Amino acid sequence: MTKRLVLAGLGHAHLFVLEALAQGRLAGCEVLVCTGEQEHVYSGMVPGWLGGRYDRSELVLDTDALCRWAGATRVPHHVRGVDPVARTVTLDNEERVPFDLCSIAVGSTPAGLEAPGAREHAVPLKPLHNVQRLHDTLAELARHGSGAVTIVGAGLAGLEMAFAARARLEQCGAHGDAITVRVIGRERGLVPERGARLARQLERACTRRRVTLELGVTVHEVRADALRLSDGRTLPSQLTVWATGAAAPAWLAESGLSVDDRGFLLVDAHLRALGASHVFAAGDCATPASWRATPKAGVYAVRMGPVLADALSAVVQGRALPASYAPQRQFLALVNTGDGRAIASRGAFAVEGRWAMRWKDRLDRAFIARFRTRR
Ligand SMILES: Cc1cc2nc3c(=O)[nH]c(=O)nc-3n(C[C@H](O)[C@H](O)[C@H](O)COP(=O)(O)OP(=O)(O)OC[C@H]3O[C@@H](n4cnc5c(N)ncnc54)[C@H](O)[C@@H]3O)c2cc1C
Repeated sequence: MTKRLVLAGLGHAHLFVLEALAQGRLAGCEVLVCTGEQEHVYSGMVPGWLGGRYDRSELVLDTDALCRWAGATRVPHHVRGVDPVARTVTLDNEERVPFDLCSIAVGSTPAGLEAPGAREHAVPLKPLHNVQRLHDTLAELARHGSGAVTIVGAGLAGLEMAFAARARLEQCGAHGDAITVRVIGRERGLVPERGARLARQLERACTRRRVTLELGVTVHEVRADALRLSDGRTLPSQLTVWATGAAAPAWLAESGLSVDDRGFLLVDAHLRALGASHVFAAGDCATPASWRATPKAGVYAVRMGPVLADALSAVVQGRALPASYAPQRQFLALVNTGDGRAIASRGAFAVEGRWAMRWKDRLDRAFIARFRTRR
């Protein structure tokens, strides 16, 4: 009998599941993809898009075209709940979709948006479609010739977005210091978990790209044109971008599935939800139960993709589950500094150069091309 596999969200790992479907590895399975998004935006190239290196069309995949190519059906709604007992997902139009198997790859949301004024006045980085707003607002600021842009969150994504914002301003004719670009971070140092060498490289890049750092403070309130900080200062900010760490969508914990202390779904080494072997999860929204400190980063979401596709294929075809997932201990980060250079970092090692940007470019383009050429 035909089994129904419902894919909630079109995160990175689900691209590999669609590839497996196209290759006939999920034969005998009806696949529904629930996403309200017409386009999948590839985060790795987003700073390059904002900074003018890429055209938007180079980093988006058309979700309908992907589904057609794979032989899946797109359900044009986001998911707002999953019931592992009734085996249904609930869509944002309240419709319930029954499933035999379900896989969840809905990513994460920026943390801390409950700070007063944040939802009203800041632009969150997720969903990534919001970057179009940044693109347009930075052009307006450049035309105006003065102002301040603040990125809240001094992680690698926040810093990359600050470099990209500076590049966008320059591209729109705003050179010099008339427009401030600043990054606010809660920790006293930059990405302390990745070592002092990377922190030094990032600080040097901030100086070169005229990005001001405000570290060891948190944002207490966001206003339309200012920010109030934990140390009592109020700073002007005509554009505030919310790029804090990853938080879990609330409906994951409400599903009754096992979650970690931050609300992300706990999965076993085959990416099955703990206690619900017919529900799988991958990417930011999933935490491997045996490696709970696994960072929320695209490289892990991508590595989970083939493991998820193989596991689903085995379940559909009644085979034993294949190789299991073990996250890599360290990961290569390539930070685009918005001026044709990038900082490459792995473990305690960090080095900057134009070659690193060329490397990042090759890796990112190869990823998107893998799924774009399949129509
Ligand atoms: C600007 C930026 C740059 C980054 N650069 C890098 C990098 O270079 N390297 C790296 O490793 N990491 C990077 N990251 C982190 C990376 O983006 C995430 O870790 C990664 O995208 C997680 O992948 P995912 O597949 O879990 O989720 P996502 O890529 O976020 O995909 C999930 C999809 O599901 C959709 N969705 C959300 N909720 C629902 C719902 N309820 N129903 C249906 N669909 C839903 C989302 O809109 C999205 O399209 C970057 C992040 C940002 C913001």
